[in-house]
Amino acid sequence: YQLAKRRHRFHVREADKNDQIEHILGKFKLSKEYLNKVMELMLEEMHKGLDPVTHDKADIKMFPTYVRSLPDGTEKGDILALDLGGTNFRVLLINLDSGDIKVKSKVFLIPQSIMTGSGIQLFDHIAKCVAGFMNAEKLIQNNKEYPLGFTFSFPCHQKGLASAILATWTKGFDCSGVVGNDVVEMLQEAIDRRGDIRVKVLALVNDTVGTLMASAYNDQNTKIGLILGTGSNACYVENLDNVKTWDGDRNDPKQVIINMEWGAFGDNGCINFLRTEYDTEVDKTSLNPSKQIYEKMMSGMYMGEIVRLIILDLWEKELLFVGHRDHSWSTDYRQALYTKGSFYTKYVSEIETDSGVTYRHTKSVLEQMGLDRPTYDDCVIVQYVCKLVSRRAAQLAAAGLAVLLNHINAPNVTIAVDGSLYRFHPKFKKNMEKAMQMLVLPHIRYQIVLSTDGSGIGAALSAITAPGFKNFKLN
Ligand code: BGC
Ligand code: MG
Repeated sequence: YQLAKRRHRFHVREADKNDQIEHILGKFKLSKEYLNKVMELMLEEMHKGLDPVTHDKADIKMFPTYVRSLPDGTEKGDILALDLGGTNFRVLLINLDSGDIKVKSKVFLIPQSIMTGSGIQLFDHIAKCVAGFMNAEKLIQNNKEYPLGFTFSFPCHQKGLASAILATWTKGFDCSGVVGNDVVEMLQEAIDRRGDIRVKVLALVNDTVGTLMASAYNDQNTKIGLILGTGSNACYVENLDNVKTWDGDRNDPKQVIINMEWGAFGDNGCINFLRTEYDTEVDKTSLNPSKQIYEKMMSGMYMGEIVRLIILDLWEKELLFVGHRDHSWSTDYRQALYTKGSFYTKYVSEIETDSGVTYRHTKSVLEQMGLDRPTYDDCVIVQYVCKLVSRRAAQLAAAGLAVLLNHINAPNVTIAVDGSLYRFHPKFKKNMEKAMQMLVLPHIRYQIVLSTDGSGIGAALSAITAPGFKNFKLN
């Protein structure tokens, strides 16, 4: 009887604990009503961004990109490309031959000191990497000038295909002397300063635009480009009549790709009703407080950190790692829990690959963080936290895509996606599609495709459509 009583008390305590966890995490479960509200607000913001009267106050800037024609698969040539602003900085050489694409690329490191140093240093470093790559690929001997497409994944006010004023840095970058300046000019100057390479920067594109372009090379229905990586953003093909901020010519094709910069959605507080105390904390300790609010709820740079803050909170409330309070855990673990950035977003993906009861990856992640012999309960709860956080991200992305699909309102649309979060998370796509089914108008058909190497190939394709490209016809 004593034993039964004790067991009973134990179960009550367990049930109580679960209730508390549910209560703490409740806000991560978004209802359809909430997602509809998000869609409504985003559409409003989009209109503000496209109208010169409200543009300055708008959070979603809806920058016209000057990319107006999509590739048709017949493009030819050798083009250099740069990809800056994601997980990796890369230099690429792309050979297009009527539908056939060959890519050579090399990843270079951008040291932390340069990411937050001066702009001149940043562009000198980039130019040095281009020269290194051209040397290794033997592109210097023949003294030929090479065209270059620059994928620059930050918000820019473009004045043409090869002119882009940086509006603000996002993600991990904060170099001085660049905001308000033309980054194409800065890159070209850095290249020319070296004197050892002949390269002309012909186009600058956002990574979303590169992703859309690369997919359109094979699939003309591609109308949306989406990045779910370190940051998040989308672009789409908009009818020129809707772009009141457009100051270019209005000849055919009467369309332009709009770089939405949707990551800044919510900077005016309009989605605060969704945010949790963890989101607030992530924002406060970031490089750009009160900016990129939507991005901070759904992209790879912040996801692991949200999970860490929740885990820490649950631990402090004695709802997690209960058996480990004093002895069996190393000070490492305690330290890791309290250290910003120690829970990598890739851990979320690893933990969510566990299905079944052994929790192999979850255990391994917790052990890597220094926790001795995590219990079954610990694993269940940690996985649950990851699941809620990543599912919320997928649902928020779905709401944004649904706004675009309903707005474009074409019968059949291909959405090109790239980014480390989307690529490596085992359930992101499924969760996103599930939410989209609920939010997209029923007559619209869409497919979501992974656009491999979009930022590289897309920049090359944009360079090809540039007016100056004919001077470079090679081979
Ligand atoms: C940037 C966008 C970019 C996105 C994905 C955001 O932080 O502002 O320009 O497309 O990240 O890389
Ligand atoms: Mg990228």
